Amino acid sequence: MESILDLKNFNVTYVNKHKSVYAVKDISFKIHKGDSLGIVGESGSGKSTLAMALLRLLPERSTKISGVAEFIGRDLTKLSEEELKKIRWNELSVVFQKSMNSLSPVHRIGTQVEDIYKVHHPKATKKEIFDRISSLLELVNLSGRVYNLYPHELSGGMLQRVSIAISLIHNPKLLVMDEATTALDVVTQGQILDEVLKMEKDLDMTRIMITHDMSVVATSCNKVAIMYAGELMEIGYVKDVLKEPLHPYTKGLLSSFPSLKGDKLKLEGIGGFLPDLSKLYDGCVFAPRCKYATDKCRRDKPAKLEMKDGRNLSCHLYGGEE
Ligand code: ATP
Ligand code: SF4
Ligand code: MG
Repeated sequence: MESILDLKNFNVTYVNKHKSVYAVKDISFKIHKGDSLGIVGESGSGKSTLAMALLRLLPERSTKISGVAEFIGRDLTKLSEEELKKIRWNELSVVFQKSMNSLSPVHRIGTQVEDIYKVHHPKATKKEIFDRISSLLELVNLSGRVYNLYPHELSGGMLQRVSIAISLIHNPKLLVMDEATTALDVVTQGQILDEVLKMEKDLDMTRIMITHDMSVVATSCNKVAIMYAGELMEIGYVKDVLKEPLHPYTKGLLSSFPSLKGDKLKLEGIGGFLPDLSKLYDGCVFAPRCKYATDKCRRDKPAKLEMKDGRNLSCHLYGGEE
């Protein structure tokens, strides 16, 4: 299967005047064409940093990126700004929770979307542009009426649909959605997710879905990556990980959600807090909160283990070495 994104030992550090924040540490995973990878982890675990770094949207002066991020054969970390411009929004696109706020309040929706389309299609005719944008609006379930409206005339859900339409304008090969539906009510969120699922089938697209909501992962992703304190704890197929989580953090995270099948479940949660990311730690980063932690966990960093069915995890409970 065609590899879309191959991350190898990927690191992102915010380098500020007085301290560094190690926000993404040594992450490796691969996604293939047609995959939809959910990335979950509590607030501050580095999910958005990872997304922004992949798109090289973080300021170069204050961030240090290392490792490899191969996007269809090209290492994103090595591309010049000129080469990136060709890929960003074109082949690799992103929608953030606040994407809708970037629409200008004083221009009609249609005009704004047209301007974005013309950046990569300067020679397109008026009719081609109109047809493309109308079909995009239809794709995200918006009527052609929206074309002539101003942002303040649209609801939050409609605006976010416009943002998704914009992110799809050049038929990207990989779409990153970072909490893209979080601010919307549950009904609108469900509708947009259904639309995303339908259109990615039509468009043959691969997706990374950053979310706090495990039910979003359960309904819209085939793979899931669990991040904690900038590190990857576990990754695998959703059907396997949700049925039988292996890593103690994944277990804790899943027990913090009501049962996905609707059964009543005691919510346990995970006691304690994320560690200070301006420090580097020996041993397992989850050890201070893990009920299975041993001296070995506090001393040695667990290796990355490859289990069956494409599952990878880092934990001393597995692997058998002592
Ligand atoms: P959330 O679920 O709340 O969106 P997240 O998983 O997306 O969280 P990030 O926003 O990537 O987490 O943040 C990861 C870590 O990096 C956090 O500790 C955050 O405080 C820190 N961080 C983010 N931006 C900067 C910055 N510009 N300078 C220094 N540290 C930063
Ligand atoms: Fe817990 Fe040890 Fe596994 Fe870390 S390595 S998750 S501390 S059991
Ligand atoms: Mg975030």
